[in-house]
Amino acid sequence: MPDSASDLIDYHCHLDLYPDYEAQFSQVAAQRIVTLAVTTTPQAWPRNKELAAKIPSVRVALGLHPQLVGQHNNEMALFERYLPETRYVGEVGLDAGPKFYRTYDRQKAVFESVARLCAEAGGKILSVHAVRSVRDVLEFVERHLAGTSNRVVLHWFSGSAAEARRAVELGCYFSINRMMLEKRDTALLNSLPRQRLLTETDGPFTQIEGRVAVPADVRSTVAALSECLAQDVPTTMGMLQRNLLTLEGPASQRG
Ligand code: MN
Repeated sequence: MPDSASDLIDYHCHLDLYPDYEAQFSQVAAQRIVTLAVTTTPQAWPRNKELAAKIPSVRVALGLHPQLVGQHNNEMALFERYLPETRYVGEVGLDAGPKFYRTYDRQKAVFESVARLCAEAGGKILSVHAVRSVRDVLEFVERHLAGTSNRVVLHWFSGSAAEARRAVELGCYFSINRMMLEKRDTALLNSLPRQRLLTETDGPFTQIEGRVAVPADVRSTVAALSECLAQDVPTTMGMLQRNLLTLEGPASQRG
């Protein structure tokens, strides 16, 4: 187990969706956990920005969740308005699962707009949801984002080996959560370049030991990832820190 909580990275967590969200922001501040606080609607941006204002380890991402695109049809204007205020974008992406397939065309239009706006702005880091839609997500990444100064982190990746190779070629990173390490065969994870891996919880939508996961639980993800990669925990911690630095650049360049 990593002994220094301050070295932990939770690169996809919905801090604002915990019932005690203010306490969660305080927790990650006290524990100095690097947290990408993703949001699901641009309406959440101002409050999240305010909550994270004095917490150096928290980055707030401007989001428009594909599962909510059906209900939040007209929020692209708000997204576009707030985009210049942040370097981080998420949760965005596509969900072609049975519950959301109905809005898939609309989702594609929204995600393509997001990708295009990020391409125009440059320098963004996107946390991207790709449920049963990796092929389409990568199509938009290739069309708008690959080869630009933007970076894509695929959240909870569940594609084929061929799709993983294509994502790697397009420069994508992968944020790995505990459930990916428990439920999937680890061959695919092992096939990903180690320098593209990050950790995440996707809390509060995941559970650990029968309770809702919190950012500090990435500690167990680091342990499980170390086992999967057959390397010790300090090696994995160092790897993740380097990957974060490569992705974001030095702190002085963060916006
Ligand atoms: Mn999520």
